[in-house]
Amino acid sequence: AIDIKHIRQNPGLYSQNCIDRNYAAHSKTPWEIIELHEQWLALQHSARSLRERNNEVRRKLANAASRSGDAEGDVHQTNDKEATIQKGKALKAELSVVEEREAALQDEMENLAQDLPNLSSTNTPVGYNPELIEYINEHPEPEPSKSDRVWRSHVHIGAELGLIDFGGAAQTSGWGWYYLLNDGAMLEQALVQYALSVARTRGWKVVSPPSMVYSHIASACGFQPRDQNGEQQVYAIEQAEKDKAKPPLVLAGTAEIPLAGMKAGQTLEDSDLPLKTVGVSRCYRAEAGARGVDTKGLYRVHEFTKVEMFAWTLPDNVEGEHFVTPVNSTSEAIFDEMLSIQKEILQSLGLHCRVLEMPTTDLGASATRKRDIEAYFPSRREKDDGWGEVTSTSMCTDYQSRRLHTRVRVEKANRRLDFPYTLNGTALAVPRVLAAILENHWNEHDYTVTIPEVLRPWMGGVDKIRGN
Ligand code: AMP
Repeated sequence: AIDIKHIRQNPGLYSQNCIDRNYAAHSKTPWEIIELHEQWLALQHSARSLRERNNEVRRKLANAASRSGDAEGDVHQTNDKEATIQKGKALKAELSVVEEREAALQDEMENLAQDLPNLSSTNTPVGYNPELIEYINEHPEPEPSKSDRVWRSHVHIGAELGLIDFGGAAQTSGWGWYYLLNDGAMLEQALVQYALSVARTRGWKVVSPPSMVYSHIASACGFQPRDQNGEQQVYAIEQAEKDKAKPPLVLAGTAEIPLAGMKAGQTLEDSDLPLKTVGVSRCYRAEAGARGVDTKGLYRVHEFTKVEMFAWTLPDNVEGEHFVTPVNSTSEAIFDEMLSIQKEILQSLGLHCRVLEMPTTDLGASATRKRDIEAYFPSRREKDDGWGEVTSTSMCTDYQSRRLHTRVRVEKANRRLDFPYTLNGTALAVPRVLAAILENHWNEHDYTVTIPEVLRPWMGGVDKIRGN
């Protein structure tokens, strides 16, 4: 399902794209594919000639059968016929070897192509570009690092107010896990409900997806067991004895995977698009490399709750006789809608944020374009000037739908089958937002935390967390 022809026709483009995206190990792949394709063409040529020779043999045998009956010639004919039959058998055997090799080469090309990252959009800067940072909500003034205000980290506030327990979780599961307690646990539920309500109001259909997925579904979405630096990304599940013959299962790192997988192998109708879903799930991340950097607190944990948006849109390249989609029409609109939902949520929670157009090196495998929102965390002011990523939105064009075999029937283009585009974006990832709320809305004078107004309906109407 991968567009191998496009790769063969543009090897330089795909190779440079690998280099720009930190996939240097794959930068020679386009030329390997070209070489395999040449071998494949040669095999096709041999197969064609073997088939022609085999047809010749069959014709000969048919002619001999229609001429038989001449007693004198029978002895000769029998010898000839036997030799021809043997020749036919040898040709068939040779042909099946060639056909097997042809199929193996096709698989090899497909596997190499599958591992190439998506092409980057022209909006995506190569390397970090500070000019593409957009600030929303004004930055706290004066600069917190310079102000007299006392700041506390969410770890401190969470312990003082009895909202988070890391030590207890270390006993049961290890470091990197946590218990949310009392109003901390209620805050998680309130954040999920609030984010869902915002997305539902805008027409996103709610889905509660499974937490375990087949590893080939995760790979098709761009999540490999290990990232390009060789760091473990996902947790694998040990299958029950009776299920050993089934494909391996992994814990999903994000609802994006089961949501995308929901339409694997299916054909959507163009009238169903854009199809907008929002899922709530627990997310599991091995974080083998990154955990060492952010060891304390909720910023980088192994399990968390996330509300995730996932959409299918009509592809840009649909050109029928009477039908041409303007480039990026619906996909751009959904990409922007995701960002506006994220802004609405984060602004109403009173957080200071900035939007970043992500560079090629941060796109991962599947995205053609990515925009992140960072929030201000007083506890991180020594690190990244306090900024930390809270949402991420990716436009994946047909990267995932090709690998998942999801198609769309385009009515206006003579019911042609095409690959829809997919997009995903965080509506709300609980731990970092919860941490940002505790840190930004903590009141020094009475050691309380002010609950943002929009969350109060889900927190029993109370305005402050006063400790338990
Ligand atoms: P991603 O699915 O990796 O693009 O992440 C989406 C959002 O999930 C991020 O912007 C974070 O808010 C949150 N997130 C990702 N990884 C972690 C983690 N290990 N711990 C806590 N939150 C995370």
